[in-house]
Amino acid sequence: MQFISLGDSSKIAASCHYLSANGVGLVLDAGADPNREGIPSLPRYDLIRSHGDAELRHVIITHAHHDHIGGLPSLVADHVDVDIHLTPATRTLTEFMLSAGARLQRRLFREGSSPHPPLFDEEHVEEIAPLFRTHSYEKSFALKDNGKDNGTPMSAAFYDAGHVLGSAGVLIRYHEAGQTRRLFYTSDTNTRAQTIIPGGCYPAPPLDVLVMECTLGADAEAAHTTRKDEAYRFGEALRAVLARGGSALIPVFMLGRAQEVLAMIDRFKRQLLLPEAVPVYTYGGMRQVSNIYDSMRRDTPRINEQFAVRQVQQRGPFKRGRIRIADHNPSIYVLASGMVFENTLSNRVAQAFVEEEKHAILMVGFCKEDSPGARLLAAKAEGHEGVVLDKRVGMQPLACQVERFRFSGHSNRQDLVELSRHLRPRKTVLVHGDADALAWMAEAVHAAVPDTTVIVPKMGQAITL
Ligand SMILES: [Zn+2]
Repeated sequence: MQFISLGDSSKIAASCHYLSANGVGLVLDAGADPNREGIPSLPRYDLIRSHGDAELRHVIITHAHHDHIGGLPSLVADHVDVDIHLTPATRTLTEFMLSAGARLQRRLFREGSSPHPPLFDEEHVEEIAPLFRTHSYEKSFALKDNGKDNGTPMSAAFYDAGHVLGSAGVLIRYHEAGQTRRLFYTSDTNTRAQTIIPGGCYPAPPLDVLVMECTLGADAEAAHTTRKDEAYRFGEALRAVLARGGSALIPVFMLGRAQEVLAMIDRFKRQLLLPEAVPVYTYGGMRQVSNIYDSMRRDTPRINEQFAVRQVQQRGPFKRGRIRIADHNPSIYVLASGMVFENTLSNRVAQAFVEEEKHAILMVGFCKEDSPGARLLAAKAEGHEGVVLDKRVGMQPLACQVERFRFSGHSNRQDLVELSRHLRPRKTVLVHGDADALAWMAEAVHAAVPDTTVIVPKMGQAITL
């Protein structure tokens, strides 16, 4: 089997890997780099033709986050006769997220906030739809060569990844040297339950190849905190802010973290930790994603299928075109973006809160280096008196409470090492982590599974697995 990372797998960048076996080429995920825009954000699709040893026939999409789907329309534009395999929930979310992405790219280009013309529009997204092939978890499907049964067909099966609605790892079976081999790609995975989504499921050991994500590989602390303790601390922090007459901003990603945070707020209200009447402000795309979560709650893995995100009373944050911050009633704002990027609602509310001691900004997700969210956390941790949330506004005094909570949708590094120990792969390919995360994971996996060969691929490097 040939393997080539087409995105920069030594960072949290575009997730995209080319594989070939039995004369059939496939791509695992078709993400875009969240740190870039336009063509530079795309994976190196040109390497499929220049370095790949088989025609691309299949695309497997593991979940609907931008860094796993944002490059899909551009890939399909160049490879029109591929089949795109995904779970039913990921299909619905992918169509929604790509259309929202098309509108955002158009707006940023029109406003002059981005020099890059949009990579695709809503029409392109509609054109992809006939290529989608949906599959339920743990149901095997054939990966044929252009509809032909090629004698030694590859097959694949999705396993619930426990990351966001519809997310999946994928097991690929192929033939090599007269034997059936098994490769499992974890994609973004969480072995433990969140508030809405239960923990992931994995194929039976042993594996020939494990391709594993490493997002939290450099985060020592994540392995020492439990969700239960963090939820308790989070509930107490919210209660204290509201009790002192302040409001709380919780910056979130609109797919996954937003819904999980709303479920926690619902639980706190039921436990009477928070007053039932405290307003919760949400906006835009995250509400539509919540509706998709709710509409599929009886046929996707849930901890409690009775719970619907829309049970949590929510209001819009705007009144006559202005954000309702001046109301001065203690409130909770659950707004995107999770990293508090400029030109987003969470950034605007953060600017309004940061100078007032009574308010709080409660960070619940991953913030990449130098994002406004990361700058805020660093300024607080280092005791700085000011922070730059928006370069056009400049330095603002930092007076509000800033706290970090660990509610990641990703497994901590200890759990990932445990997973590799359980799956007993002959080879382990580490991807989707920063350099120090990959280095820690390589050493730890090698120690835990001494017989496995650990591979940390470079972008564009063709590897025989
Ligand atoms: Zn993800």
